[in-house]
Amino acid sequence: MQQVAISACLLGNVCRYDGTDNRNDTLIDLLEGATLVPFCPEDHAFGTPRPTMDLVLEDDGRVRARSNADGSDLSDPIIRYAEDFFEAHPNIDLFIGKDRSPSCGVCSAKCYDEKRTLLSDKSAGLMAQEALRRGIKAVDAETFLEEHK
Ligand code: SF4
Repeated sequence: MQQVAISACLLGNVCRYDGTDNRNDTLIDLLEGATLVPFCPEDHAFGTPRPTMDLVLEDDGRVRARSNADGSDLSDPIIRYAEDFFEAHPNIDLFIGKDRSPSCGVCSAKCYDEKRTLLSDKSAGLMAQEALRRGIKAVDAETFLEEHK
């Protein structure tokens, strides 16, 4: 059976920054029969609710997640969670990330420079980057839905 890693908020977990969810029943129905393995790096690392964050391309060339509350670098706990998640689940066939999330978006997250000028709205979030680095097929939820209309 196909193993699908999926952003927990898409399944109805109230783990968004503001304590809500992104439940998508059409998506859930489409995935019937698959083994769903939910994840939420931000809730694990920072709890819910929490301040929002954005991806920033630093002058040293690294893409980091910076808090919109105080500018602090929140990347390391997200990256650690992602590494641990994929180590614990080595047989993931497909990664479905919540579009536009700086953690989970696959090719839809916004990335800014250090002066907060928008550089791209097609970036991968930090957890999605780890999936891609491991060669796991990864897709934004909106794209998956488009592809299965
Ligand atoms: S998009 Fe990712 S980090 Fe944000 S609430 Fe959903 S699962 Fe958590």
